[in-house]
Amino acid sequence: MNHEELWQAALGEIELNLSRANFITWFRNTGIIDKKEGLAVIGVPNGFSKEWLANKYYKLVLKALRNISPEIKEVNFTISSVLSKTGEVAKKPRKEKSIILPEEQAGFDELEANKETNLNPRYAFDSFIVGSFNELAHAAAQGVSQSLGTLYNPLFIYGGVGLGKTHLLQAIGNAAYNKSKEKVKYISSEKFATELINALKNGQIEKFKDDYRKIDVLIIDDVQFLTGKEKTQEEFFHIFNSLYQKNKQIIISSDRPPKAIATLEERLRSRFEGGMIADISYPEYETRLVILKSKLESKNTPLPNEILEYIAANIKKNIRELEGALNRVLAFSQLNNTVPTVSQTSKILSTIISSPKKLINYKNIIKAVSDFYDLAADDLITKCRKREIVWPRQIVMYLMREELKISYPFIGEKLGGRDHTTVMYACEKLNKEMETNETLQQEICLIKERIYG
Ligand code: ADP
Ligand code: MG
Repeated sequence: MNHEELWQAALGEIELNLSRANFITWFRNTGIIDKKEGLAVIGVPNGFSKEWLANKYYKLVLKALRNISPEIKEVNFTISSVLSKTGEVAKKPRKEKSIILPEEQAGFDELEANKETNLNPRYAFDSFIVGSFNELAHAAAQGVSQSLGTLYNPLFIYGGVGLGKTHLLQAIGNAAYNKSKEKVKYISSEKFATELINALKNGQIEKFKDDYRKIDVLIIDDVQFLTGKEKTQEEFFHIFNSLYQKNKQIIISSDRPPKAIATLEERLRSRFEGGMIADISYPEYETRLVILKSKLESKNTPLPNEILEYIAANIKKNIRELEGALNRVLAFSQLNNTVPTVSQTSKILSTIISSPKKLINYKNIIKAVSDFYDLAADDLITKCRKREIVWPRQIVMYLMREELKISYPFIGEKLGGRDHTTVMYACEKLNKEMETNETLQQEICLIKERIYG
């Protein structure tokens, strides 16, 4: 296997773990430029990517490479102009290369944010469109921003990728900051964990905690990533309590409700559940159209309604993608100095819209389920009867059956040599539950998002 093939194989795995936007942003134009004595050297296009990859994706990259080539023990990132054919990325038409398409950027632009608060003024209540899908979360957010610390504490907002959680959290922060110069801090749970670990390393933990205890409004984004890191959870718990007791406002987001975050410590879970929990679901067609129109207003380039309608009808589950599609069409229109027709629009957006369901196999399902529940994949495929494994394993059985139509005996064989009747029983049970159990429906939906990326 040469470097190129190895990297392609690793990218295949890395891609399963990231949103498409993040994958494209960080792994475009990367490649293996050297491999010797257990060290793989990855070429990246610039210093920013280098830092980001090293800090955020080191483990993921190492794991993906080691799965294919176990002798690799270490990874190094270096700036280089190697161009790699990163699957979809390389297949994009050349013309688009010079334009940075917004859906290909990371979700939250830290570079534009205030260094102290991490707030980006772009995310305001004014620019946030409300529909029935997000009305509860929006109302709770507004309520909280007007009665900090007293109305709902904590406020916990959850929902899928690109549906406005960060926007809403930031809007609360901006409102609080602008109105009364409250001491606001927005931070992702990953960054919180990193800073905490650094503080521990450098003997600065007391200062770290003191700083947090001075905050009036603490906003923790994507708290699902806080899972599993015990020390982090413990310190966070103490900071949480200290702020809570002083009636300081705490706002949290996650991709799922607290009870579905498998490795969240019980005491944190019960704290999160002690305030207000609001979800964001998917916007309906009319709202998608309104969102597109409002985004278009700030762009100084008109587009006919039928184009907006086409986009709204075809992109349903992610507002970031909706915006990305609009920007793509606008870029086309500006570059070619024409207004695109619907059929041109459909071509421009073909990579976003008509991507057929990704081809997957049962291993993708096992991986997605084990990641979701933070378990080792091996536990799912062996005889292990630990109680916490039973449920995720049944989910795997159900998904293998539903998504791939695999036979019961084959599923049983792949999951620790179980009898086909066991599999049948699990699938029937889950099928029934899916009809009424909303939590399960959401979980399955999130897992499928992971499977199909
Ligand atoms: P999440 O944090 O849930 O992944 P974001 O808050 O980052 O999603 O939203 C993705 C993009 O969609 C952002 O550019 C955001 O401004 C925009 N967006 C999300 N919800 C709305 C909304 N209700 N009205 C207007 N723009 C929205
Ligand atoms: Mg977000």
